[in-house]
Amino acid sequence: MKPLVLIVEDEAALVTMLRYNLEKEGFAVCEASDGEEALVQIAERKPDVVLLDWMLPLVSGIEVCRQIRRSPSSRTLPIIMLTARGEEGDRVRGLNSGADDYVVKPFSPSELIARLRAVMRRAKPASAEEVLRFADLAMDLAAHRVTRNGKPVHLGPTEFRLLRFLMQHPGRVFSREQLLDQVWGHDVYVEPRTVDVHIRRLRKALNENETADLVRTVRSAGYSLDLAGADAA
Ligand code: CA
Repeated sequence: MKPLVLIVEDEAALVTMLRYNLEKEGFAVCEASDGEEALVQIAERKPDVVLLDWMLPLVSGIEVCRQIRRSPSSRTLPIIMLTARGEEGDRVRGLNSGADDYVVKPFSPSELIARLRAVMRRAKPASAEEVLRFADLAMDLAAHRVTRNGKPVHLGPTEFRLLRFLMQHPGRVFSREQLLDQVWGHDVYVEPRTVDVHIRRLRKALNENETADLVRTVRSAGYSLDLAGADAA
């Protein structure tokens, strides 16, 4: 079955161009020209991925993105934001509101399709069973449950979100600032030191049974989820 792409865009010419290129590449396409219609289409057609324009009439793309994320049935739906703005602040806002990726207009259709395939690939394991795995660690996203080596790990809400983000990007090093943006959200003011506190709690919870430390501290750079273990916090 062809993967279904929902295009949410009010510019008819751009929709036509996108539809043409997507269909040529083997995708099925449905359309919405505003946010309200987008939410209806998502509920009815159940697309595999959404291309969401930032500038929409009535409700902004960012708000549509938040609404998609709020609903349990569409929480893991991959979203790529389309926008004319290329500023860093907007990119971060887009990603914080729940978008998986971001493409700046004007873009080449082949670049967009490559990004589309990438977010769908990344989304697959999570939407198929909603369980993230790393080493002997498993996170059941639907049940909000974490186990290590089959034993339950008890985490606070912040540690849960922190671990989820790290498990979604295993092996990558994130600075405190990046973690603040991704886990706490851009609009919240939290000191970078707060990240250290939550990393410490997360480590303690994960390593309760003296198992190998999976959280790596990279001096002056940040943290990653890594089998190499820690240089000690
Ligand atoms: Ca638009």
